[in-house]
Amino acid sequence: EYQLDFSRIESNGKVLGTVLLAFDVTEQAEAERMRREFTANVSHELKTPLQSIIGSAELLENGLVKPEDQLRFLSRIHQEADRLVALINDILRLSQLDEGGALPHEQVSVLELAQEAARSLTAQAAAQAVHISVTGIAGTVFGVRRLLYEIARNLCENAVKYNVPGGSVTVEVAETDRDVTLLVRDTGIGIPEGDQSRVFERFYRVDKSHSRAIGGTGLGLSIVKHAVAYHHGTLRLESQPGKGTVITVTLPKEPTE
Ligand code: ADP
Repeated sequence: EYQLDFSRIESNGKVLGTVLLAFDVTEQAEAERMRREFTANVSHELKTPLQSIIGSAELLENGLVKPEDQLRFLSRIHQEADRLVALINDILRLSQLDEGGALPHEQVSVLELAQEAARSLTAQAAAQAVHISVTGIAGTVFGVRRLLYEIARNLCENAVKYNVPGGSVTVEVAETDRDVTLLVRDTGIGIPEGDQSRVFERFYRVDKSHSRAIGGTGLGLSIVKHAVAYHHGTLRLESQPGKGTVITVTLPKEPTE
């Protein structure tokens, strides 16, 4: 896509010639298109739980719900409100990432972050009878603690959420001379091949009905992708439906150009 600029060169009232400048704005146009698409998606995602809340509240207000069903309607309202809060939190995280800018860098142990993430999921994992283990070396990188935590937390949370009863999540931290790798392996439901390249897109969820029951915003992996890119790292996904998923994040120990 090009933006054209046409100008006439004059000297003492005499036209000497004309200049046509063509600016390549493909990148800006693409960014603009993505912003518009994101806003449309956000509006849709926020509207769905709100409509459900309004609908349930109206029925309750008008006395149209039998007493024995009232509690169920109230919990639906509560659940949808929780979903809205989760969505707004994820959207805020993403927009902070989009802004980029200078965030405070420090030496961070990826192993500690993974342990912290696993601890925060203890209750959820126990409820699903999923076992989590975290092993490896400290794996210290110079980066933004909050963002690096988001990577570990979102990957571990998915590994628990999309697991099966009695399944396991194995987190391993390793290093080479230049990089630290964080590997999150689960024995869960897996991701069909056709969806594997799309799960990092904003709001993309594999099986809408199944995913809805599990709960989530469809933003977790796009936060991971952005946070990894911010640190000039790479991401690899391997998955087999019915067997499980392995996601490997490689992060340079020192910031690279
Ligand atoms: P969500 O909030 O839905 O979990 P994510 O962006 O974190 O959003 O993930 C996008 C989709 O990718 C999920 O809805 C799920 O369908 C799929 N997914 C992510 N991680 C896993 C995993 N470890 N195993 C199976 N499916 C996964």
